[in-house]
Amino acid sequence: MPVTLPQHLQAQLQAGLVRRQQGYRGRFAPSPSGALHRGNLRTALLSWLQARLQGGEWLLRIDDLDRPRNRPGADDQILADLRWLGLVWDGPVVRQSQRRGLYASVLSSLRRCGRLYPCGCSRRLLADISAPHGALAVYPGFCRQGGIGWGPRQGRLPSWRLRLLDATLSWPEDSGRHGSLEAASEVGDVVLRRADGLVAYHLATAVDELTLGITAVVRGEDLWASSGPQVAVMAALGAMPPRYWHVPLWRDARGQRLSKRDGAEGLEGLRQSGGDAASVIGLLAASLGLVPAGTRLSAEELRQQLQLSDLLTMVDEPLSPIPEGAEPGEA
Ligand code: GLU
Repeated sequence: MPVTLPQHLQAQLQAGLVRRQQGYRGRFAPSPSGALHRGNLRTALLSWLQARLQGGEWLLRIDDLDRPRNRPGADDQILADLRWLGLVWDGPVVRQSQRRGLYASVLSSLRRCGRLYPCGCSRRLLADISAPHGALAVYPGFCRQGGIGWGPRQGRLPSWRLRLLDATLSWPEDSGRHGSLEAASEVGDVVLRRADGLVAYHLATAVDELTLGITAVVRGEDLWASSGPQVAVMAALGAMPPRYWHVPLWRDARGQRLSKRDGAEGLEGLRQSGGDAASVIGLLAASLGLVPAGTRLSAEELRQQLQLSDLLTMVDEPLSPIPEGAEPGEA
């Protein structure tokens, strides 16, 4: 049963629904934890292309709720890099930090309707009992039956978990992988408000896809499993998920994914080795097999020479990473 929402929330969800019906609306949602590396830029390019090839809108959302992970200046750098590449977004930039009131009202509604419960389990405790190989940890439900209150215990606030119903969580998925997870055995009760008081990524993201009227999410395949909790939040709010396309990550020669926090090379490094926007777009597109290696072209020129079917066929083939060390314009 979806929760009962106050009128102002119902109105925002309704406005999102109306927007969804007006046509394709995609988004790119980086966290300002560092400059975008070439893997992030490639995902941004795919997300932008998919929106533009369908005559749709493309929004830029900055996921800046996790204050301890935000890097000073990263937000401006992300905007400047996307503009430099010609990946221009529609409308004002959406910053999650400016939407805390909305997330707080959704949390209160979920709590009032009994869909949340306080959880006192620390991360350390859960890490100790979870699978040693680090498989997606499903919360074992220690606090599900109640017993701990909403107030602080030994100076520590509880986290707030969503009580998942025993159901299959499904979403339309374009990656070729089936979009579905079992709520009880594969997802578990997820944290929507962290013990440090911060709104959790799953809550904010699900609320944003709905209220911003997003019809399609293109993001890295590392976030495939995040769709389960996000679809669960959307279902609790009585809404359907958007379409998802989880695209392969750019890996280095050792098969490791690039990471902003580990300082994977951003545009600055590519520029220093003589790259301009046309060579970087060519590099990103060539790594997807969309153009021959060494091609130089603008994002707009790339869009003009592609059909939507070129992207969709690419979905069926593994994306080929370019050899490490190759510079823009090189074969
Ligand atoms: N902000 C998240 C990240 O940079 C991505 C969120 C999303 O696309 O859902 O990893």
